Amino acid sequence: MVSTPSSNAIAPAEKTGRHLIGASWENGDDRHREIISPATGQVIGSIPLADAAMVDRAVIAARPAAPFLRRLSRQDRAYYLRRVADIMDARADALSHLVTLEQGKPIAQAEGEVAASALALRMAADYILTVETPSPPLLDPMKRAFIELKPRGVYGIITPWNFPIATACCYYLGPGLAAGNALIWVPAPTTSLAATALVECFLEADPPVEGMVNLVLGDGPDAGDALVTHNGVDALAFTGSTETGRIISSRAGPKSVSLELGGNGPTIVFEDADIERAAARSAVAAFTNAGQICTSTERVLVQKGVYEEFVERATREAEAMRLGDPFDQDTTIGPLHNEATAKKVAAHISDAVKGGGRTTFGGARASGFPTDLYFQPTVIADVPPDSALHCEETFGPVIPILPFEDEESLHALISKSNYGLFGSVFTRSMGRAMGLINDLKVGVLNINEMSAYWEPGMPGSGASGTLSGTGRIGIGPSILSMSDQVTVTMDLN
Ligand code: NAD
Repeated sequence: MVSTPSSNAIAPAEKTGRHLIGASWENGDDRHREIISPATGQVIGSIPLADAAMVDRAVIAARPAAPFLRRLSRQDRAYYLRRVADIMDARADALSHLVTLEQGKPIAQAEGEVAASALALRMAADYILTVETPSPPLLDPMKRAFIELKPRGVYGIITPWNFPIATACCYYLGPGLAAGNALIWVPAPTTSLAATALVECFLEADPPVEGMVNLVLGDGPDAGDALVTHNGVDALAFTGSTETGRIISSRAGPKSVSLELGGNGPTIVFEDADIERAAARSAVAAFTNAGQICTSTERVLVQKGVYEEFVERATREAEAMRLGDPFDQDTTIGPLHNEATAKKVAAHISDAVKGGGRTTFGGARASGFPTDLYFQPTVIADVPPDSALHCEETFGPVIPILPFEDEESLHALISKSNYGLFGSVFTRSMGRAMGLINDLKVGVLNINEMSAYWEPGMPGSGASGTLSGTGRIGIGPSILSMSDQVTVTMDLN
């Protein structure tokens, strides 16, 4: 089914992104970029593009805030985050509307993103008030040791466009401020209107000190690189593609850097699984946010005895999707965010089909929409094991399916891809599922659940030796990784 964007998608008054430096909003100099909605094709606003000098000003604003925040009580940090969350709740409709207009996801999903983000700030507040650090037992009975959590200082944060509010709030802004850091955030340029609207909430919540949250808008290779290489930044947190992660880790020098990068499943379905559930949950993970999730269903490996049944059920799931106007509450898939993503999805599909892949639903861009970014929900069976669709991250609304015979052929398929973020296995045998914990290189394994199942309290990470990064996110893990853990000993003599 399709629905085309209607009057409620019409762009509101044009919006302007702004930098926040200390307590001042800044419009930047002459370099600006128009923001075009992937949903409507309309210009919806513009943002200033920062240069290194603007990043430098943000660092100058953040540096004096850092020692103040180090001394600020955990209670005061928590109260502040709760005030921000309250303001976000009060503005949830406006924030969600902007996310849909600027990023393209269906409005119901944008509403969920905003609500989860406010909740994440409250969870960070709760965590910092209750976290306990160990007092390690020592050999010397006259010594005592404890661990003191200290903020790292000025934290540089760079985020992608797929969850413009949630990645920022759940991974970094909530945990980073709870930990007592001063932040400089460079969001993806194409979702910088939403970032500005979010940071307005942080500013209006009356920050305890100027320079606690700074926002710098601009292109990654300019503003982002200036942040990564700045000597006044103590630590960096990056979420984005594996390619950019490589550049950042080579440019960051001695700074502490956490990297949350791309993913490629797998989802594994054994013959003893509940196939109806496996297909339904795989479809949710493939089509939510049009598949633009680092943990989405990127490849489904299905045991031979239930292969055709799975293909059939996955196809029915795709048929039931409603591609269309993301402002319609009934829409389940909106447009892709940008042309580069649409081209990559189309190229992966066409390469797989040339190699013998069988399209059972979709397979191409949809016509009759205001932009070319609306892509049909797609199911491809018999995907060639060496194709890009199987081995690389596609980041689109596609369920690629491959058969396997036994554990040996399963492992041959698994090893075709070097990503290692989230994986999923559907089986009634818990022993078999537990065995996969050892065999799969993933940071999260969801058993009888889709690969994209994540909630902010869950630790998540890329597995070592893979292309998926080195960080560890989730409210508690982010607070710990955004803190220095200082060991203090005392002599009792
Ligand atoms: P991207 O790497 O192109 O951009 C991410 C951010 O990096 C943007 O803000 C961009 O402006 C900035 N950037 C680009 N070049 C830079 C440079 N040289 N120096 C500093 N900053 C630079 O990624 P994207 O297309 O925005 O996002 C999609 C990718 O993000 C996917 O690969 C997805 O899997 C990944 N992702 C991972 C997670 C996770 O938790 N592991 C979560 C969300 C998205």
